[in-house]
Amino acid sequence: MEPVQSTLKKWMANNKNFQEQYEEIKKEVINSAEIKAFLGSHPEITKKEIDKNLIKLYEYKSQSKQCDRCESFEKCTNMIQGYSPVLHVTDGEIHLSYEKCHLRRAHEKEQAQRKLVQSLYMPKDILQASITDIDNDEKRGKALAEMNHFIRQLKNGLPPKGIYFYGPFGVGKTYFLGAIANVLKQFEISSMLIYMPEFVREIRASIKDDSINKKIDAFKNIDVLMLDDIGAEMQSAWFRDEILGSILQYRMMEKLPVFFTSNYSLDQLSSELETTRDGVETVKAKRIIERIKQVSKEVPVFGKNRRN
Ligand code: ADP
Ligand code: MG
Repeated sequence: MEPVQSTLKKWMANNKNFQEQYEEIKKEVINSAEIKAFLGSHPEITKKEIDKNLIKLYEYKSQSKQCDRCESFEKCTNMIQGYSPVLHVTDGEIHLSYEKCHLRRAHEKEQAQRKLVQSLYMPKDILQASITDIDNDEKRGKALAEMNHFIRQLKNGLPPKGIYFYGPFGVGKTYFLGAIANVLKQFEISSMLIYMPEFVREIRASIKDDSINKKIDAFKNIDVLMLDDIGAEMQSAWFRDEILGSILQYRMMEKLPVFFTSNYSLDQLSSELETTRDGVETVKAKRIIERIKQVSKEVPVFGKNRRN
């Protein structure tokens, strides 16, 4: 067992160190410009209150204030990511609280906006498409004019008709959808982009699944629906009439716009939709085309193949 005296001596030495350190930190805190400014504007704060709250003042001093020491939300150096300390005084007492910082607010806004564009099977470059990157190619002039017309209407609310873009492969039709989705996002309008062939496959594969109805409801109710590459994939009359038909019917009644891209004009698409495994049904195909016309405007897109 250690003699009591040496233990005591050690304790005294440590304690002295502690005292010294404490005084040093206190000096550092009180002499820092921001704490000086704070105490200067609150002369009612007593020395005793300062001593009592030295830890709070130290914490305040050590944290980044409204991102002044952070380069991004991800690299936030504060104790609680994205929160900035605030000192205030009530009845002569010092209080420390936290508020959201600028970067956190921006981050949350971005997260919320990202949710506004949903997609199924769409390539990343399409989801990053920007309207400002679309060059003014004369051959695509009509399509661009229609897009701008749609966008101009947005400030008065959502127009009841989208656009049916049709034209050859690689001219940028799908890119247009992505660019429009990103404009809608700025108006806080939600959209859903779906690659049609995969969509048909997915619905078919989950016929017995309860989630089908939920999905279909989402396609019915989303502000703007975008169906990419509608064409020859509908070998099932059930899909054509019960799924696509009912989604379009609902949106037509609710005046909710739909955008499409296709390699086929509406006349050509009509012939494509006629023939399913159940035979040739001209009237049923025409009914779908009528609904497409109710929810969108047919616009051709020409120009060079951008995939080359
Ligand atoms: P389509 O749907 O008509 O077949 P896409 O929209 O897929 O054509 O466009 C073909 C390729 O060209 C894609 O890789 C797309 O990202 C690119 N692209 C199209 N338009 C633009 C544009 N304005 N700026 C940059 N890339 C574009
Ligand atoms: Mg495409």
